[in-house]
Amino acid sequence: MESIFGLSLNDLTEQLSLLGLRPFVAKQIYDWLYKKRIFAFESMTNIKKEIVPLLNEHFDTTLLHMKRKQESPLTNKYLFELADGSLIEAVLMRHDYGISVCVSSQVGCNMGCSFCESGRLKKIRDLKASEMVREILMIEEDIKRRISSVVIMGIGEPFDNYDEVMKFMKIINEPLGLAIGARHITVSTSGIIPKIRAYADEPMQTNLAISLHAPNNEIRNKIMKVNKAYPIEELITSIKEYIEKTNRRVTIEYLLLDGVNDTKECAIELAQLLRGMNVYVNLIPYNETSHLEYKKSSKKSIDDFFDTLKKRGINVTIRKEFGGNIDAACGQLRANEVER
Ligand code: SF4
Repeated sequence: MESIFGLSLNDLTEQLSLLGLRPFVAKQIYDWLYKKRIFAFESMTNIKKEIVPLLNEHFDTTLLHMKRKQESPLTNKYLFELADGSLIEAVLMRHDYGISVCVSSQVGCNMGCSFCESGRLKKIRDLKASEMVREILMIEEDIKRRISSVVIMGIGEPFDNYDEVMKFMKIINEPLGLAIGARHITVSTSGIIPKIRAYADEPMQTNLAISLHAPNNEIRNKIMKVNKAYPIEELITSIKEYIEKTNRRVTIEYLLLDGVNDTKECAIELAQLLRGMNVYVNLIPYNETSHLEYKKSSKKSIDDFFDTLKKRGINVTIRKEFGGNIDAACGQLRANEVER
């Protein structure tokens, strides 16, 4: 049976019409699910009793199972169990401007970035849009508040699961549903160029972030396997084309790894690479893990890197550190659970 959470309002309207039901029923159901947070058709009081069995026969409204949650003042980290027993995680972050959630898009990941815990857990399968939507719903149910922005930057390469991720973005953007504004939805890729090009043609005004993490092929090849297929100069060209086509600013994610990509030369090279582009660089201090040999850059290296970019006219910020104390680096909660 199909999960109702994987259907856009249009899809639901179409499916109901095949069952002989009028379009307004789809709007009523959407309102119950996403505004009133009532998930059982039986409890949707303006839905005719006679059609409830038909709805129950065709649409599944089950949420996910919350297996574990870690909480700290700035972050909650969730581990959810899917119907097939797979485990996925999502992270909530509290900012001055609201609450953001980072969702996973796959169970495991095949991209094999060397600094990533998730890369150690090979991809088992892609997530369905309905499962990603329920990551958001579960968190909102838990905190009893609306979240203001969503980043698809948890476990998985979203552009390796392109169609379901696009569907997910459309569903959470639906004004009669979760109504998360397009400007508050960001998809982050390790650099799958054909999909960056496809994304530039999507009608939604959602954002793009690129996990760059290196200023040249030599370093990037060592830490990100994807760079062998899509080298940095081609990636930069595709980002320029994206900006040209969409007129939207792109976020460049740059994880600082001690002695690997955090030197002054790297910062100068990065500034040259990005010169003149409508981008914004987000420097991310590394979260040390027990399994990987990388070390966090010193405060001085982080500050110097920031200053070097800033002086060369690059828009740059240092990401607030959220989860060092609660395993909030990508993949760590799930890795710990799976190994137990
Ligand atoms: S950083 Fe992202 S793309 Fe790279 S291995 Fe980890 S989850 Fe996959």
